[in-house]
Amino acid sequence: MQYNSESLEKLVDQFARFPGIGRKGATRMAYQVLNMTDQEARDLAQAVLDAKTKLHRCRICQDYTENDLCRICASNRRDKSTICVVETPGISRRWSGPMSTGAPTMCFMGSSAPWTASAQTSSV
Ligand SMILES: [Zn+2]
Repeated sequence: MQYNSESLEKLVDQFARFPGIGRKGATRMAYQVLNMTDQEARDLAQAVLDAKTKLHRCRICQDYTENDLCRICASNRRDKSTICVVETPGISRRWSGPMSTGAPTMCFMGSSAPWTASAQTSSV
């Protein structure tokens, strides 16, 4: 689809990079940004920049954190004798509620069979 503006086209292209977001959804998101106030748009852009510059991998579980250890791994209330292995960082957050074992998680960053993807996990 051609847009009337190169800036709009670029914005749609960027949103379309997200998994599960097609051109139609990316276009809706782009128009949502255009409907924001200048301050809201700046806040969105700053949140993206902050996430990219401030977040890094937790030393223990590889989830994202701004500190050396994430809140789960740093907690003294967690059972550190057991670990919960997950494929992606977001999954560990869903399992860390009251129904969880309380164990810290170990994330293998997208590989459901980490023992077959040593190159992928060793670079983390
Ligand atoms: Zn952690």
